[in-house]
Amino acid sequence: MHRDMKECPHCGHDTYYITSTVSSRSQFHARYDGEDTENGEMYEGLIHENHKWAKWAKCSECGKRLFRVEV
Ligand SMILES: [Zn+2]
Repeated sequence: MHRDMKECPHCGHDTYYITSTVSSRSQFHARYDGEDTENGEMYEGLIHENHKWAKWAKCSECGKRLFRVEV
């Protein structure tokens, strides 16, 4: 539930789901020697936007992040 948002601002869809950055959806990989690895966009997002592990509400339709879930 979100007090200000009634639908996805990106596509107008009316449902969303919660995803945790520590769940199996959002694993990221690191090498023991500290070299960069191929992690793709999700890894980049975690590093740049989200220093701590957190939960996000994402649109069920387009999958974009809607808001951060306070836990
Ligand atoms: Zn959407």
